[in-house]
Amino acid sequence: MTISATSATPATSNWQGAQGVKIVTKNFGVPDSHKLATYRARGGWEAFRKSAGMAPAEIVDEVKKSNLRGRGGAGFPTGMKWSFVPKEARTVYLVVNADESEPGTCKDRELLAYDPHLLIEGMAIASYAIGCKHAYIYIRGEMMREAKIVQAAIDEAYAAGLLGSDHPVAGGRTFRFDITLHRGAGAYICGEETALLNSLEGKRGWPRLKPPFPAVKGLFQQATVVNNVETLMNVPEIVQKGGAWFAGLGLGKSGGTRIVCVSGHVKKPGVYELPMGIPVRALIQDVCGGIPGGRAIKGVIPGGTSMPPLDASELDIPIEFDALMTDARIKDVEVQRGLPFDLGNGRRLKTMAGSGGIVVFDESTDVVALCARIMRFYAHESCGQCTPCREGTGWLARVCTRLAAGDGKPGDVELLGNVANGIAGNTICALGEAAAWPMMGFLTKFRSEFEAKIRKAA
Ligand code: SF4
Repeated sequence: MTISATSATPATSNWQGAQGVKIVTKNFGVPDSHKLATYRARGGWEAFRKSAGMAPAEIVDEVKKSNLRGRGGAGFPTGMKWSFVPKEARTVYLVVNADESEPGTCKDRELLAYDPHLLIEGMAIASYAIGCKHAYIYIRGEMMREAKIVQAAIDEAYAAGLLGSDHPVAGGRTFRFDITLHRGAGAYICGEETALLNSLEGKRGWPRLKPPFPAVKGLFQQATVVNNVETLMNVPEIVQKGGAWFAGLGLGKSGGTRIVCVSGHVKKPGVYELPMGIPVRALIQDVCGGIPGGRAIKGVIPGGTSMPPLDASELDIPIEFDALMTDARIKDVEVQRGLPFDLGNGRRLKTMAGSGGIVVFDESTDVVALCARIMRFYAHESCGQCTPCREGTGWLARVCTRLAAGDGKPGDVELLGNVANGIAGNTICALGEAAAWPMMGFLTKFRSEFEAKIRKAA
């Protein structure tokens, strides 16, 4: 069964018009961009001053209007997330998820190193909007350089009276807030927001059963908003220029720009801030200089290795949350019962924009070996709480590895599909899907390569 594409590029795409717009990387390359004096000289903290004249609900509305969506992976609307905090909550926490660990993703560490004060100002505005007085930054343990830079920025902000001091705000009231930087120990699973909260509380970094969701019972059982680094760094510009301006830069229901981290077989890998909705082909050819050695593209992982891949026939899809989920061509549906996932309203999941980690692989790539490497990562990082993930990721890793080594047995391809289907939707957190989805995707797009490994072994 084959389902054809609806449209490769939606009519609302504005990616060419938004070329050159820099929001979160605007201070990259500026000498001493990480220092408060530099940040203020370039207009820093003006957005906070403006927000202080607004009512908190007005700020939340402006962020809703902006169509800002979470940049950590799920793409959840940020303004809506903020509005889930119960009005009667007496204590509210903001927690910044800086535990960037998705393979292929390396944007937040650059943002933290180059412009930590943009994050602090974004946190200040967000905290005022949701009623938080004490915010936390949970940073990945391996990011030692970034942790030092961020802590130095926090210290500067305290010394300047920006943190820990009263600010006059609308209605004749005052607002004061604090930030604590907390270093994790380097576990992938602590990027899952409830595992992160457990870790921050000093417990084992195990994901929690939901509901209750963090907005109702999060850190220390209090109302909590967890946002990604890049997400919050967009907030000052939204306040300064308005939600409508930010929404107008984007595509469909995704406002603003998008940072992508491109790795693999391209001439110019790197971290780029690009217009939301730039097609995959334009990214590879125009921004990253194409494929070395004139080889052909075999496929692209569009949002970190937990996302199903695109094949070479799908490169005109815009890099945008909804387009990647629904506009891609869907074929060979019968291969896996789990793909495509029915999202309701006729929408079907092909893949996702995820964390912006884009991995390009050319025709020389052994896809089975690539898939085996990915499966070993998720098997290693499974926290072990639930059986389908603990056992299933191990099965995926072992079977893929033996196929890659040329030791595949008849039935292995079907076994991989069945195990992946047994994981998806049956676990406490999304790490199970992080292994199952790419497995299903690789089997769907590159099934013949898996089968060839068996023929070779037979
Ligand atoms: Fe742990 Fe995996 Fe279950 Fe998540 S899905 S809670 S990582 S065992």
